[in-house]
This record gives sequence, C-alpha cells and structure tokens, in this order.
Amino acid sequence: MSLQLTGAIAELRSALAPARRSGAGIGLVPTMGALHAGHGRLIELARQETDWVVVSIFVNPIQFDRRDDYQRYPRELARDVEFCEARGVSVMFAPEAREMYPEPYCTVVEVRGVTEHLCGRFRPGHFQGVATVVLKLFHIVQPDRAYFGEKDAQQLAVIRRMVRDLNVPVTIVGAPTVREADGLALSSRNQRLSAEERRVAPALYQALQLAEKRIASGAGDAEEAKRAALELLEQHPEVRVEYLEVVDPDEMQPVAQIQGAVRVAAAVWIGSTRLIDNVLCPRTG
Ligand code: AMP
Repeated sequence: MSLQLTGAIAELRSALAPARRSGAGIGLVPTMGALHAGHGRLIELARQETDWVVVSIFVNPIQFDRRDDYQRYPRELARDVEFCEARGVSVMFAPEAREMYPEPYCTVVEVRGVTEHLCGRFRPGHFQGVATVVLKLFHIVQPDRAYFGEKDAQQLAVIRRMVRDLNVPVTIVGAPTVREADGLALSSRNQRLSAEERRVAPALYQALQLAEKRIASGAGDAEEAKRAALELLEQHPEVRVEYLEVVDPDEMQPVAQIQGAVRVAAAVWIGSTRLIDNVLCPRTG
C-alpha cells in the first residue's frame, strides 16, 4: 500500500473508507512534524497493533502560548513524508490551520484537574489547545487506537482523562521516551539548541535520574528528592528551571510524602529553548 498524503478532511475520510469497510484496525499517531525516532517508535507500535497507520502533522496554533514559539517551530513536510513512507505509514494528514479551525471557530475542550500543575500552570491555554485538537483528530480519523509518548506525560494524562470523561471510543497507548545516547529526550525542539546548549542539555535527565535514585533508595520526602535534582541543575548556569515537581502519575498533583508510584517532571529553559522531561518512579518497598 503506498502512502497517501492529504490536507483535506473530506479526502482523508475517503482515503480511510476502504479500511473502515473491511473492518481493518486504524491507528493514529498525532504529531507536530519534524519527525524523529521518538515519533518513529510510536509509528512502529501502531504498525504492530493496527492495519492502517495514520500520522497527522499539524503545528496546532491554539496550543502555543507564545507566538514566537509557534512561528519558529520546525516545519519539514518533505522530510516527514519520506520518514513515514520508509516506515509503512498508510495515510498522512497534514492540514492547514484554516482546515482545522474554519472561521468563526467557537468550541474548545477544557480538561480540569490534571492540567492544574506542571506545564498547565506555566503555559496558559496549552492543554485546552491540545485536548481540542486531539478530540478533533479523533473525530476526523476515528481510530481504534491512538499513540502518545510518555515524554509528554501530562499530555498523555490529559488525553486519557478526556477520552474517559467524554466516552471517546478509542484505546490510548502510551510509549516510553526515546533518548539520545547521552540521555537527552528526543524532541523536535532540540534542533534549536546551539552546540554549547546541546552539551548541557542532558543535565535535565541526569537531575531527574538523581531524584529517581533518591526515591528508590527510600527518600519518602519529595522535597529531599527535588533538592538533589535542583542542586545538580544549579551547577549549570545556562539552565533555568521553570518547574521541577514530584506528582502522582494519574492525577498529576504534587505529592509531599512519597507512598506509591510517582513521576518526577521538569521543564527547563536553555537559552530560548524550553525542554521538558520526566521519569516514572515505581512504588518502593
Ligand atoms: P510532538 O510532535 O512533539 O507533538 O509529539 C508527537 C507525539 O510524539 C507525542 O505523543 C509525543 O509525546 C511523542 N514524542 C515526542 N518525543 C518523543 C520521544 N522522545 N519519545 C517518545 N515519544 C515522543
């Protein structure tokens, strides 16, 4: 089956009609493009578990809290097409903003609770934009399964909650974070780092691992684990911490005393680039 590329919702639906008629399983991998091995892992999983894989490429304007970030976000459609072709993707959906948000556009999805802390606190409107576009993609593609990375753990929690609350008939699959050899989580934004910034960027994951180690060795106090991680980051003056928090993995609420599994999540700025990462610390004892 050769790759079909479209930016039109009606055309996408026609492209998927044979799959639906034959009862084939449809997998959706929503992305913002500039595809890398992290996206590749989601595509691979979708290929294993479904018959038709749809990759959407859409730099969603309503999830950006800063205009310059939206404008500077990498766009590499020709390369992304090659990337998807080589990985057996059936359909690519790459709409323009006006196809997704025809004027006047009035409806948004607000997921409360899980969006209160971490990125939700520092990026006003971000998760409303994410939930809205993902629900739209679910209605457009009507996938059986949809694939998301744990790198964006709060996003995954938001989507799981939205699907549960709004009874969306789709199975959400989370995939582990793919990293560079030095631990830096792959991200389309990494290409914006200068050579010097790239050199210090792995400190983010090192700090999270240090917190994880403290928790694994019995630190019951979240502050203690956070302090260790922050001390490591303080050694790098180029790194500015936006947040570093220990949260419970489902509700994404800060935890003071660690009793069950927790996620340590952080966002840092290195120069003008914002990076996020997190680690899951299983329940100890
Ligand atoms: P993005 O294009 O950055 O919006 O990401 C699209 C999807 O790929 C999201 O579900 C991300 O969580 C996932 N993703 C991004 N980077 C990684 C990574 N390094 N490892 C695993 N999944 C990732």
